[in-house]
Amino acid sequence: MLNRPFTSKRAPIYADVPDEKWNSWRWQLSNRINTVEEFEKVIPLSESERKALSAPGLFRVDITPYFVSLIDPDDPHDPIRKQVVPTAAEMVPFTAMMEDSLAEDRHSPVPGLVHRYPDRVLMLVTTQCASYCRYCTRSRIVGDPSATFSRAEFELQLEYLKRTPQVRDVLLSGGDPLVLAPKILEEILRRLREIPHIEIVRIGSRVPVFLPMRVTTELTDMLQKYHPLWLNIHVNHPNEISLELAEACDSLTRAGVPLGNQAVLLAGVNDNLHIQRQLVHELVRMRVRPYYLYQCDLVEGAGHFRTAVAKGIEIMEGLRGHTSGYAVHQYIIDAPGGGGKIPVMPNYLISLSDHKVVLRNYEGYITTYEEPVDYLPSHAAVYTGEKRAEPGQTGVSGLLEGEQMFIKPEGFDELHDRGGVQHRLKDSRKWVPLGIGPGEKEKPTSEE
Ligand SMILES: *Cc1c(COP(=O)(O)O)cnc(C)c1O
Repeated sequence: MLNRPFTSKRAPIYADVPDEKWNSWRWQLSNRINTVEEFEKVIPLSESERKALSAPGLFRVDITPYFVSLIDPDDPHDPIRKQVVPTAAEMVPFTAMMEDSLAEDRHSPVPGLVHRYPDRVLMLVTTQCASYCRYCTRSRIVGDPSATFSRAEFELQLEYLKRTPQVRDVLLSGGDPLVLAPKILEEILRRLREIPHIEIVRIGSRVPVFLPMRVTTELTDMLQKYHPLWLNIHVNHPNEISLELAEACDSLTRAGVPLGNQAVLLAGVNDNLHIQRQLVHELVRMRVRPYYLYQCDLVEGAGHFRTAVAKGIEIMEGLRGHTSGYAVHQYIIDAPGGGGKIPVMPNYLISLSDHKVVLRNYEGYITTYEEPVDYLPSHAAVYTGEKRAEPGQTGVSGLLEGEQMFIKPEGFDELHDRGGVQHRLKDSRKWVPLGIGPGEKEKPTSEE
């Protein structure tokens, strides 16, 4: 296990495929497997898998010959198999299950553009992938060619970006942007680069994992014309790390594309500290920085993949301090209802008093940090430059910056009015902070 060499695999039925075909991404895509008959030639199916594959309305199935070859056919619990071969468990509903659990479509000013955060957008450029993950968070559109985005919609996305200067970061996703025809992908990158306020472009892709042969010199030569470009891959288990993936990552890194990994915490796949440690260690050996570990979303078909949040905390507890900081991802719950990503971790801050902080480390060592008693925000803390616009989204940081004094749930004021009428004691000046927020500029007189 330690420092294991990265290796290649090919299922016996592909033994006679000539190398030029095997190493061609076009051949891999057109020979993907998705039927009971095709599967049976590679892995003996269980009753549950056979039932799922024959079920109507099943989320699309497609697996590249390369990726299916990484499955151990004799192991019904193979961690790669569980990610891509459907089972009847997908058809089981669960409490709080949703079609669009992140409310992405609500955050879309135009189809396919999700503008959730102040300075960055998620741009869905296709609904197609090289293979389909059974726990897909976007299964409502992914895999469905009829749900894909039209050229007219692409133009609308660009128009929105042009007129929204607060966006400095565009994250291309889908579907998988790297399955697009190379010319189309290049056009997207070129058109984005024409927009002056877009500082970085990122790609989220599982192509290096499902179809590493797609990472050709032609592709990396094209990508490096559009720097600064970042790319996140998606590896969940060390078994996905092959010689081919390592080579694809090496080519991308040499082309100057910093690589990150986004994994999903999946029951029966990687819900184990030791698997996660091996995973992050092998990733950093390939110069891939573990970025996020996601709690599985409340999405249809993914119920059986969900773990307790405690499992994620336990994994983070076993990583931080125990291994290189570079190998430690952030554990994220993407808030149902569209709240966005929320990092969660064990508590390291144990207690506080004035000027003293009590902390514990990964070993359980408890220490105090003595704070200065004479600290005053210095000159450096006074920022006179321009502040980035975050209309309506300054959040808790805005509270600290003194832009507002509270964040209230919708309907809070009305509820606390208790249906009362305006009377002699009710003067809204009393509860508007003096010298902070809107109270300063336009001192409200009594309501009505
Ligand atoms: C994940 C995501 C992003 C990017 O988030 P980072 O934390 O910056 O990686 C942007 N927009 C949406 C809608 C997302 O879901």
